[in-house]
Amino acid sequence: MVLDEPVSGLDVSIRAQIMNLLKDLQADLGLTMFLISHDLPGVRYLADVIGVMYLGELVEMGNADQVYNNPLHPYTKVLLSSIPMPFEEDRAKHERIKITGEVPSPLNPPSGCRFHTRCPFAMPICSEVTPESKETEAGHKVSCHLY
Ligand code: SF4
Repeated sequence: MVLDEPVSGLDVSIRAQIMNLLKDLQADLGLTMFLISHDLPGVRYLADVIGVMYLGELVEMGNADQVYNNPLHPYTKVLLSSIPMPFEEDRAKHERIKITGEVPSPLNPPSGCRFHTRCPFAMPICSEVTPESKETEAGHKVSCHLY
């Protein structure tokens, strides 16, 4: 099943009902769902395995706990730091990582690491060499020269 941004434009209560329905279908029918979304809390709620993509390339992959509790790729860290947090104590614990610049065209992507034009941790090698996917722990893979 492929769901492309299925619920993010809906009223919050309808959205919660649909998310719960999908969760029930997952459990009751043993379904495998493929969800493509920018709704990070929704992904956390539904997904067992998460792949993070930037400009059409997979930059990090792992189970939901690995990716949310120990994000490795700078783009994953940027995404997770952008989740709004209503409570001051949570905001104090999670520093917001901001990036600048526009998303480059996927038709003419940057050389080396595609994220290097916006990455706060970019090094000289990043614009020259495409990082390979490395497994840092069982099932948790990242494509970044920091590892
Ligand atoms: S390879 Fe370099 S530019 Fe790419 S995400 Fe890692 S540190 Fe940033």
